[in-house]
Amino acid sequence: MLTTETVQKGSSIVGRVLASFNMASRRLETLVNACTNPECPRRSVRQALTRKLDGAAVAGQWFCSPACYETGLHRHVSALITSTARSRTLHRARIPLGLMLLSRGHLTHEQLNFALEQHRLTGARVGDILLELNLVTEEQVTSALAAQWGYPIFPSNTAIHHLPVRIPQYLITLHRIMPLHFVEASRRLLLGFADGPDHRILTAVKHILACEVEPCFIAMGEFQRRLQWLNLEATTSEVIFDRTCQVAEIARVAGSYIRQLGAQHANFALSGNHLWVRLTGGKQLMDLLLRFRAC
Ligand SMILES: [Zn+2]
Repeated sequence: MLTTETVQKGSSIVGRVLASFNMASRRLETLVNACTNPECPRRSVRQALTRKLDGAAVAGQWFCSPACYETGLHRHVSALITSTARSRTLHRARIPLGLMLLSRGHLTHEQLNFALEQHRLTGARVGDILLELNLVTEEQVTSALAAQWGYPIFPSNTAIHHLPVRIPQYLITLHRIMPLHFVEASRRLLLGFADGPDHRILTAVKHILACEVEPCFIAMGEFQRRLQWLNLEATTSEVIFDRTCQVAEIARVAGSYIRQLGAQHANFALSGNHLWVRLTGGKQLMDLLLRFRAC
């Protein structure tokens, strides 16, 4: 019979075996992969055998120490922000939602002009204003969006299941996206958009979750219902830096979290005005969301 003591002893043995396996795999990684930092001061095999194991992979490239991965973080984040700033205007070429609703006969010119004026004054989304004024229904908005983009509509009031993939709740709320279904075997995620889909978000989710993403639309009510359900699963594994950060600060912050968590991998994507950093392979999975300034 297993007593509490043997269970504890058993789990601690398993823990030790796993820890030593982890050490060995890190040591191997250090030996097999040379540090990517060209100015790395410690590149000899003897040093790789004896030095402290505190390296990490930044966007798939191995760096041997905190000083080296901070250099890597800085270079990688800078390149990512610059390349995205250049391609910023590529994906926004659809008929605006208001015009779409007008062409479908759901709105009059006067109603649309009034909503556009409110949008200019308050910055609120046109769809939200129209819904709030009861000028259109949720179904009309969702169906106009779906027709505009050629994506399917996800049925409302379907069962909600826990998914094995995680998107930070901050991004879910900000961009009104909702992970709906995930097929493990083919790693395909069905991602619902309650607003017009933003391809930068789609690309970011695809990259960080390492999966294919299929977009669809969900009604705002369905989005809110699922958001409430998600909020019950409170999470402490995302940290938001909503003050604008420059690249050097982003590299410092990410480097410090890698050290604290003992993370082995850091991956990045840009999602709107935030840099999304996912740290894995450490004490826990952690998402950092840092608002950045492109300079
Ligand atoms: Zn190095």
